[in-house]
Amino acid sequence: MAPTHHAQQHARQEHIHGQIAPDGDFQRWFDWRWQLKHRIRDLASAERLLGIDLPEERRRELEGTIARFPLSVTPYYLSLIDANDYENDPVFKQALPMPEELLIGNADMADPLSEDHDSPVPGITHRYPDRVLFLVSNVCAMYCRHCTRKRKVGDRDSIPDWAQIEAGLAYVREHSEVRDVLLSGGDPFLLEDGYLEWILKELRAIPHVEIIRIGTRTPVVLPYRITDGLCDMLKRYHPLWINTHFNHPRELTASSRQALARLADAGIPLGNQTVLLAGVNDCPRIMRALVHDLVRNRVRPYYLYQCDLSEGLTHFRTPVGKGIEIMESLQGHTSGLCVPTYVIDAPGGGGKIPVMPNYLISWSTNKVVLRNFEGVITTYQEPDSYEPVFCDRKCDKCDLQLHLSNADEAQAVGIHRLLADWDDAIALVPEGNERYERRETEVDEDDTP
Ligand SMILES: *Cc1c(COP(=O)(O)O)cnc(C)c1O
Repeated sequence: MAPTHHAQQHARQEHIHGQIAPDGDFQRWFDWRWQLKHRIRDLASAERLLGIDLPEERRRELEGTIARFPLSVTPYYLSLIDANDYENDPVFKQALPMPEELLIGNADMADPLSEDHDSPVPGITHRYPDRVLFLVSNVCAMYCRHCTRKRKVGDRDSIPDWAQIEAGLAYVREHSEVRDVLLSGGDPFLLEDGYLEWILKELRAIPHVEIIRIGTRTPVVLPYRITDGLCDMLKRYHPLWINTHFNHPRELTASSRQALARLADAGIPLGNQTVLLAGVNDCPRIMRALVHDLVRNRVRPYYLYQCDLSEGLTHFRTPVGKGIEIMESLQGHTSGLCVPTYVIDAPGGGGKIPVMPNYLISWSTNKVVLRNFEGVITTYQEPDSYEPVFCDRKCDKCDLQLHLSNADEAQAVGIHRLLADWDDAIALVPEGNERYERRETEVDEDDTP
């Protein structure tokens, strides 16, 4: 960041601090508890601290929005807003309400990802075979206006208590197929170190839990939460991975860089999940600047999310084409390390589906036709000598010498099942297929379609 920008930011922080605590010591600004205590929760305070004056009608509209979807932003994150151009400011748009949030589109849903449906016990979403999402906190430092769990934001009743966490832990203990536990929320880093450590310790004690992941936005909205004490605690529970949530290069400040460096120095691999948001980052150049800045700070862009169909997000949604255009602008044009996977989280709980520009143009029995990022069309010659091996799951006799125990108990799911030699299924038939229902005999999936 340019030194002048840095100086401006510092001046803004001192200014906001001075208004919140006229006689206070500016060093308090860097204390995450001070930041939380002084979160801005009403429009008048936001206007005062930013030195802006909203038109009266606008203010009334926004009060209506806040009544439905509450406002909460840390002084730190507020200080990133450029008050001279707040209407176009990417931080303002993520933190402060818009009247459009109250417009519910035809396709909008309260819980588009069916997280509540796929929840065997409160707080756990078990959607994929080998990993679970574990919501351990319903508290966030800042209420993102684009939150996919907007329905729960500020919902006091749903703050999980000790018994609920214990029930989630019990679920993981009982399900030996769960090798990856993803702690999310809310923000797990809004728990006290001791409480979070208890959860990590309990998870680490479960033999089948191989990795633990934490999803947190604190490096973006409350970077001072990443204390040396927190990092010292976290590094005792490796292998631990962290995903954070930067959406715009402006969010990579001196403070957030320091937070990322501390986490990386604690040996924690860092990833980032960006949400594609209209008016915030729906631009190939902004996205390119963002991924470069992330990688420079040892953060690997992990996912780029298409905006979910949650209620109140319509004004943030872009066509899928915008995401594909962004992927087209990254792949090949910059380091592979900088290229996230673009995903649409399927409504109804289907999980994340990757979407890409098409690179495979055509193929024959011995050749594949591809195009590269420059538009060069090229061919790949298939091997003449590849001997297809029929896999019967007899791993102990396989030339690959990968001696897997219990291989004969393996199950293939979905499209993978159609490809597995050792499974007889030749079709996956959707429920309620009329043609099948017309057949008199009972049909199972193994029949010829
Ligand atoms: C995103 C998500 C995960 C993790 O998915 P990965 O692709 O492994 O990162 C797990 N469970 C649920 C319910 C999720 O939404």
